[in-house]
Amino acid sequence: MGLSANAREVISHHERIIEVSVPVKMDDGTVRVFQGYRCQHSSARGPYKGGIRYHPDVDLSEVKALSAWMSMKCAVVNIPLGGGKGGIIVDSKKLSPRELEMMTREYARAITPFIGPEMDIPAPDVYTNSQIMGWIADEYSKIQGKNVLGVVTGKALAMGGSEGRDTATSQGGMHVLMEFLRETGRPTTGLRVAIQGFGNAGSFMAKFLHDAGFKVVAVSDSKSGLFAADGLNIEQVMSCKAEKGAVSECTMAGNAASVISNADLLAIDCDILVLSALENQVTKDNAELVKAKVILELANGPITPEGDDILSRRGIPVIPDILANAGGVTVSYFELVQNQANYYWSAEEVQAKLKPIMVKAWQDVSANAAQFKCTYREAAFISALKRIADALKWRRGI
Ligand code: NAD
Repeated sequence: MGLSANAREVISHHERIIEVSVPVKMDDGTVRVFQGYRCQHSSARGPYKGGIRYHPDVDLSEVKALSAWMSMKCAVVNIPLGGGKGGIIVDSKKLSPRELEMMTREYARAITPFIGPEMDIPAPDVYTNSQIMGWIADEYSKIQGKNVLGVVTGKALAMGGSEGRDTATSQGGMHVLMEFLRETGRPTTGLRVAIQGFGNAGSFMAKFLHDAGFKVVAVSDSKSGLFAADGLNIEQVMSCKAEKGAVSECTMAGNAASVISNADLLAIDCDILVLSALENQVTKDNAELVKAKVILELANGPITPEGDDILSRRGIPVIPDILANAGGVTVSYFELVQNQANYYWSAEEVQAKLKPIMVKAWQDVSANAAQFKCTYREAAFISALKRIADALKWRRGI
């Protein structure tokens, strides 16, 4: 793509890495100190943006990688934000509600000098949610002495959240998928789909595809999967999963629906495989078994580089994560804009603004794929890197 060596040098480094100690007085009176991070990769295109993760396996290199990924994702959809990510090394399920709130507020105090609607806007990620965002916004606002709801996104609607945030990732994935199908001359309804992961992203994706006339033949969660050759009734699977906790309990949700393993789901004979669970699911060990004709990555990093090479050699197109799941960060950006204007949009307005952004992002990636004769993943990185490099040129002459 002709990226200059100077731009490459700048983009290869993070602008700021913050490491904080988070002391918490536990319910039994002892004090524990948790390790927290906030990593700010690039602000060339705007304030840093990215989630906060609570997990025992969080480490600095992971947070650094995820923050760089956010710079790419925001640039692919051309929203005026850079990349950041944060985390605390903690098994938050082992904390009491009071301990979780105290830890979150202490972490918010520690990173307050480095965040804000014009500086860095965190959001939920693994094991963080709208309640945790509410505590951060409240703590930050108390310190500032005024209401600053735009310091984080992913908040509850009652305190400045955006309509449409819960379905944004899958809605964005739907727009990109439909453009891909149209452009490559494939049918835009009736195709057979398998979906790995039936959480926030996967379940709404299943519902949108089902509503658009696709046949969702298989879904899975961390326990196992469910298959029905004639297609599953997704609304029934959603309410059954909410009630019983596992898709395998939902065999009444389709004609002759049967339980399958997670490994079986990845190898199902179908038209579209949607990956919406975790990272590193399609690897060198199972990429040869994939029978789908196209893969949509709603999860972040669900295919390893080795798996990616195998799929590319086999001619299976992959619509990459930084494009396919960028509807989520796009509606987070909408939330920030609404907070800053203190004026709120209807669900219809959010949908109407999301679609053209996703369609244009697809068109740019597709044009790069044709020009550079490369995979959609490489083309998405070209889209992003071009925009970041362009901003660096205008800001700093780099
Ligand atoms: P979630 O926790 O709501 O859902 C994850 C689902 O994956 C659950 O149903 C879980 O049971 C299932 N799962 C876990 N391990 C599995 C396995 N081995 N096989 C099959 N299923 C398995 O999470 P989510 O918010 O839906 O996010 C899913 C992915 O999408 C993550 O990679 C996340 O980073 C990415 N993503 C989500 C959003 C969003 O707005 N929710 C935005 C961008 C990216």
